[in-house]
Amino acid sequence: MFGLMMDRPLLLSSLLEHAEQQYSDVEIVSRETHGDLFRYTYRDLARRARQLANALAALGMASGSRVATLAWNNHRHLEAYFAVSGSGAVLHTCNPRLHAEQLAYILNHAEDDIVLFDSTFLPLVEAVAPMCPGIRAFVLMTDEAHMPAQSKLQGLLCYETLLATQGDAFTWPEFDERTASSLCFTSGTTGNPKGVLYSHRSTMLHSFALTMPDTLSLSVRDCVLPVVPMFHVNAWGIPYAAPMNGCKLVLPGPRLDGASLFELMEAEGVTCSAGVPTIWLGLAQFMESQGLKPSTMRRSVVGGSAMPQSLIRDFAEKFDVEVRHCWGMTETSPLGTQGVPLAKHAALDAEQQYALRSKQGRAVFGVQLKVVDIDGNALPRDGKSAGELMVRGPWIVSEYFKGEKPALRDGWFPTGDIATIDADGTMQITDRVKDVIKSGGEWISSIDLENAAIAHPALAMAAVIGVKHPKWDERPVLCAVKKPGHEIDEAALLEFLGGKVAKWWLPDQVIFVDSLPMGATGKIQKMDLRQKYADILCGDAVTSNVSTSP
Ligand code: ADP
Repeated sequence: MFGLMMDRPLLLSSLLEHAEQQYSDVEIVSRETHGDLFRYTYRDLARRARQLANALAALGMASGSRVATLAWNNHRHLEAYFAVSGSGAVLHTCNPRLHAEQLAYILNHAEDDIVLFDSTFLPLVEAVAPMCPGIRAFVLMTDEAHMPAQSKLQGLLCYETLLATQGDAFTWPEFDERTASSLCFTSGTTGNPKGVLYSHRSTMLHSFALTMPDTLSLSVRDCVLPVVPMFHVNAWGIPYAAPMNGCKLVLPGPRLDGASLFELMEAEGVTCSAGVPTIWLGLAQFMESQGLKPSTMRRSVVGGSAMPQSLIRDFAEKFDVEVRHCWGMTETSPLGTQGVPLAKHAALDAEQQYALRSKQGRAVFGVQLKVVDIDGNALPRDGKSAGELMVRGPWIVSEYFKGEKPALRDGWFPTGDIATIDADGTMQITDRVKDVIKSGGEWISSIDLENAAIAHPALAMAAVIGVKHPKWDERPVLCAVKKPGHEIDEAALLEFLGGKVAKWWLPDQVIFVDSLPMGATGKIQKMDLRQKYADILCGDAVTSNVSTSP
């Protein structure tokens, strides 16, 4: 027997209509690409999204068309989010930090018809256009005053002029909630990038989860600043969750350095934010160097890579900001877990609480997790048995866009992460399958070593890679960046680590570098480091910190 409740589809356009009716004068503040701050309201957003829907329809956008964006977090990008998906077309957010060839590959693979882009990316789009003959229209997301005098792009259109020619009467169509809404490609560190095709239903359910008290805990009284880019995994869903909850939304445009973020947070009264650890490191260093503390910002969701315990402690104790450590990936929309300690942990001392918070946390409702051995058998939830993390749920990928291979194993998505899960369901990533260091038949967790190293007050960043070794197969090498004005040498760092990890885990070499290679999504590119230092331990005089078999 079926229930007798209305079967209304979960469509993204309903978020916009809701915000227009309930929160019409709540502000959206956006940093334009040329630097000025622009402000308007949800009422204005809804009106301009309808104008844009009309303009894109006039350019030939139809249900199922793919429309690409190459844009910062700004109000025009937000309008595109709703105009494209709300019309039943697919918003393909592209990462502008990709190489031209890689970008051309994904534009062609997605069969994009129209490209909307910020002026920062004009040279990139001009370079890519000859490789993408299928694209029918290029729209520069600016006004006439900021259009270039000339461009290699034939018939380049101006966003504001397109909008000005359109009325704001538009009725959002109704369709099946499983219809594709947006497309995002994984960063493709191995092989070609793979497309993850989100649906209206998956995105709406994910927005509810993002809103819950132990994740972003969004309220009408919040002012949220997504530092995570709208060009990767939909800025973790904040562009949808903010209008759902009537939050003031602050979009930082291209300025993501610590000083600019701090200034914007203070000026706009930001209460919560979301970003990868490197962003928070930049902000922490800026605030520390200036003796500053945020006056309204109280919590931040951090994920994308492991948030070091020392940084979680700094944010709590020096800046009064609660860090909520989440885990996820492009394939999981991305929210998978959140790491707020349970009520029973309240009696733990501060350091134990930070240690708990540095784990990746428990599955949010809607997501199921398990770890399996190499034969696919589920491992016990004992906090010790490490295996590949598998995930399942209504906002987890089931197939890649035009995928050749199935994405799933026995109905579960294999994440490529190695993790443990304890009796409370707290998951801890110990490594990526591709990053774990195999030394003498045993595994060394590069993440554990990095966390131990980064706890040293003189270090700003650390990356541990497995490097080929004549005797042990692979041994760890630590690449470290010192904080400005701090000194430390290899011997002192190894001594510091000696108290924290098993002796046979100690890196065979420490390399001090000025910076680490960062990928398109703000993560350290360990592959580049592995290539650069591939033979560093294969010389004649190689010694190792392993004195006996590990
Ligand atoms: P890609 O585009 O490479 O798929 P994602 O942004 O999807 O990039 O990255 C997903 C991966 O990032 C996860 O599989 C995991 O290895 C890592 N990751 C995400 N969040 C965390 C976290 N909180 N701690 C440690 N690693 C994380």
